Amino acid sequence: TYTCDTQKEVVLDIVRQFTLSTEKLHEIKANFQEGMRKGLAKDGETLAMITSFGSFLALDVGGTNLRVVNVLLGGSGQISTRQAKYKIDEALKVGPAKALFVDEHQIRVHGGSAIQMGFTFSFPVLQTSINRGTLITWTKGFNASGMVGKDPVIMLQDAFNRRHVPVQVAALVNDTVGTLLAYAYNNPETAIGVIFGTGTNGAYIEQVDRIPKWRGPSQEREMIINMEFGAFDKERAVLPLTMFDNKLDRKSVNPSKQLFEKMIAGMYLGEITRNVLLHLIDRRLVFNGNISSDLNQMWTFETAYMSAIEADSTPTLHHTKKILEATLNFPPTSLNDRQIVKLVVELVGRRAARLGGVALAAILDHTGDYTQKTAIGIDGSLYEFYPSFDTDLLDCIEEMLGAEARQNVSIGLAQDGSGVGAALCALLASRNG
Ligand code: ADP
Repeated sequence: TYTCDTQKEVVLDIVRQFTLSTEKLHEIKANFQEGMRKGLAKDGETLAMITSFGSFLALDVGGTNLRVVNVLLGGSGQISTRQAKYKIDEALKVGPAKALFVDEHQIRVHGGSAIQMGFTFSFPVLQTSINRGTLITWTKGFNASGMVGKDPVIMLQDAFNRRHVPVQVAALVNDTVGTLLAYAYNNPETAIGVIFGTGTNGAYIEQVDRIPKWRGPSQEREMIINMEFGAFDKERAVLPLTMFDNKLDRKSVNPSKQLFEKMIAGMYLGEITRNVLLHLIDRRLVFNGNISSDLNQMWTFETAYMSAIEADSTPTLHHTKKILEATLNFPPTSLNDRQIVKLVVELVGRRAARLGGVALAAILDHTGDYTQKTAIGIDGSLYEFYPSFDTDLLDCIEEMLGAEARQNVSIGLAQDGSGVGAALCALLASRNG
């Protein structure tokens, strides 16, 4: 179906560059696991492997009942929740500031006029307590000045205070940790929370004795680690970056950073696809060499278009035609043009899902969790909407870890996981709080 030998040659070269062999995936996985171990041993490594604080306590204030959920990081690498239900005292409902004591778990929860709020902040934060931390670096296209090294909770709290909004930021939660907790609420065997949205990152439950850098209290046996795995392979040791990835990286607000994220996440996939299409256009191998002024602009090829193109199974690629001609203002396209666009989209999308799968396989292999029933909660529009992203993830896990893993591992959408996780942590207090 190629229109000329050069077209075939150039397209096959692109196919080659974007296709990851099983062998390559194993190499990436080994490197990733090495990165995990380094990050657990020492601060300042490529994978930050940020420790989260304590066990989590959530209060669910319903109309009549007050539910206290103590999210325990249980003995066998799993989360369990202990719940206690109390009828809400009428006086409390209408009364002013009251301290509320929950004796059963020896946890004191501070009531009061201020609403206790969990704050999901989806950037790498070095956490120093349940509601304190400092921003290590911006990611995902953010670059607001004067924030790195500052505490996002203090910034938010100051803003509330200035406006006399009676909210107390009680917990700072990374979105991956929120996703893990939210999913665990309904699936107790959850061990991993992952984001495939604007960016990508994961959190998992680690044994404290496997965290050499941990200097905090040792009564906790397990701890949630926010991996910040989007930063993987800063050293460029193993990821097969193409010229299209390098171009994206060079023009991003954070060059040389978050290279793994830039190959996987929703913010970037459309732009990689755009770079490949420009390459083909510049060689006059598609669209008759016609360019659309829309496609000439960075970030105009949205990742959502990729989902629509992947799903386009019409014989004429009718939906693809609409995106190219109606949305991106290309002159009339040929079926061959559209087939090549679809092929490029599939290459970029499949590579992303397979790299995401490698990260999951690496975590499962590190913890050994895939030898028993285990669940992975995932949040983010890329996972939710990109066709076959979920099966690609599972296929990759099986390719890496075998049939046993496929049987034991389940993945699912933690709908609004990060938000629900924060809500779950609203009115949250640490055990030491
Ligand atoms: P966030 O990660 O910022 O919380 P989302 O989970 O909604 O928010 O992810 C937004 C990202 O998902 C954007 O980068 C966008 O390109 C991508 N996205 C949105 N819709 C789709 C879709 N239908 N298919 C694939 N990617 C999508």
